Amino acid sequence: MGKMRDIAVETADLLPNWRDLDPALPDLSFVIPAYNEAETIAETLCRVSRKARQLVARSEIVVVDDGSSDDTLDRVRAGQWQVPVRLLRLSRNFGKEQAIMAGLRHARGRAVVVLDADLQEPLHHVDTMLDHYRAGYEIVYAVRAHRDDEGWLKRRCTAAFYRFLNFGSEVAMPADARDFRLMDRKVVDALCALPENNRFMKGLYAWVGFRALAIPVELQPRGGGRSKFGFRRLLRLGLTGLTAFTDWPLRMWTGIGMVLATLSIFYGLFLAGRTLLLGHDVPGWSTLAVAVFFFSGVQLMSIGVLGEYLARVFNEVKGRPGYLIAEDVSLMPSPEC
Ligand code: UDP
Ligand code: MG
Repeated sequence: MGKMRDIAVETADLLPNWRDLDPALPDLSFVIPAYNEAETIAETLCRVSRKARQLVARSEIVVVDDGSSDDTLDRVRAGQWQVPVRLLRLSRNFGKEQAIMAGLRHARGRAVVVLDADLQEPLHHVDTMLDHYRAGYEIVYAVRAHRDDEGWLKRRCTAAFYRFLNFGSEVAMPADARDFRLMDRKVVDALCALPENNRFMKGLYAWVGFRALAIPVELQPRGGGRSKFGFRRLLRLGLTGLTAFTDWPLRMWTGIGMVLATLSIFYGLFLAGRTLLLGHDVPGWSTLAVAVFFFSGVQLMSIGVLGEYLARVFNEVKGRPGYLIAEDVSLMPSPEC
């Protein structure tokens, strides 16, 4: 922790100097992770590049192709976009969190906007974000104005997940925050300097701190294609978040163990007393069976929780990179798109 803070302070102190020396660096970078977005990516890039030209003098778009199996990559490469586009192809699908990190590490702008490739988030919000950024906010992030498009069960699960996540956590992670946000260079540098691989971006955005402002955003239906976050992916992301930002699931077993052990002692005393007073009592098989099943369940659960955390520790210890870049292409801007 101490080491981390040093790194962040160091980068925040150093970077403004070299950026001021190089006026060619973009004012604004857009980072767009894309996984099988062939249906929408061209329209997205066209609109984003037009928006970027309209907003600032120098901008760039960093598209991260997260191992798509459709022709997302070719559509980006073959198209003409009004601002320079940097196309990173990851060697396989590493997941959205890693794709965003790859993009953030390669974005060079003074401020960086992270945006989905499916046009669900209306672009006019970037104007608002930029206004707030200029007024001094270092992170301006989108929160969903409502979740009316989601089913009752998903809404309940999300609410429960964030309650678990925020329980005892040192930073509050807002439940409806999106990855769609504008961040100052300092924030991006801080995120890039974090050494962990088990990345839950929504938690990290909150963890790094800085002056942050939420703006409500009405999500549009997808421009095409389908959502990549089915139940399994969401569950995996949820576990990543919980293990990265909580330790109470590990610790609560001490308390549960103590309560159960205390209750067992009293129950043992009660049984002993009853046997002494009322004589030998042979029946009780079902009580025994229930107790065995119950305690085996409790033990397996606690080992399972331990396993989840251990698996993440194991992953961190292995020290493999979060993603691999297979291709890095720079595309020149063109007047039309
Ligand atoms: N995405 C990605 N890698 C993945 C899954 C998703 O880069 O493994 C990208 C996807 O292309 C999109 C963004 O993450 O740009 C959000 O995904 P999606 O729209 O499927 O999520 P939802 O909006 O349904 O939460
Ligand atoms: Mg989407």
